[in-house]
Amino acid sequence: MELTRDLGENRMGGYGSGRVGERELITNLRFLDVRWMNKHGLLKNKGVKTINWSRNGKPWGKMEILVEADNIHLIYKESRNDGPWEDKDVEIKLQKTPCRYGGFQYWFECPVCRHRVCSVYLSDTWCCRHCGHLAYPSENEDELERLRSKALKLKEKLGSEYWIKPKGMHQKTYDRLRETLLEAEVKADEAFDEKVKRLNQRIMSFGKNNP
Ligand SMILES: [Zn+2]
Repeated sequence: MELTRDLGENRMGGYGSGRVGERELITNLRFLDVRWMNKHGLLKNKGVKTINWSRNGKPWGKMEILVEADNIHLIYKESRNDGPWEDKDVEIKLQKTPCRYGGFQYWFECPVCRHRVCSVYLSDTWCCRHCGHLAYPSENEDELERLRSKALKLKEKLGSEYWIKPKGMHQKTYDRLRETLLEAEVKADEAFDEKVKRLNQRIMSFGKNNP
């Protein structure tokens, strides 16, 4: 079984660093999402599966995944800073929790903190986003602004009643614009939530230090 996972455009490229302060952006890393793997039947049968990574539509490495009952092994070659190629075999444990409506949900166990997580990222090592101190692009103010202005422009295009197709616009065009608008709005909301959460954390730790 072989699948290709496109990680999309490296959108942050335009902003230069690909980092938020000291923190690496998750969008610059290869990652595995347990829900994506399960959805595509990768966890169904034991054995070796292949994942090809791509970025901007171009190949961006590949890895074999040996699926066992309670874990997966990530098998690939890695070269860091143009150094020699090293063979890697990384074990990620799987956990299962029952779903409310029957069946069960898979989780990865982060190899570092051992918490149940949906995604593991290849940073310095394979780990969850907390252990890797990874940042979402939305933690970047520029990104939030970009999403907001994107949503605004799309709304202008679609008119004030953007939930109704403007006269004369092709259904396909309308569907595409609406889809993009919804996506931009959801992402902008998420970015905003993150911002509020960080502000709250700051306020809480401020309170803690100043009784
Ligand atoms: Zn972790």
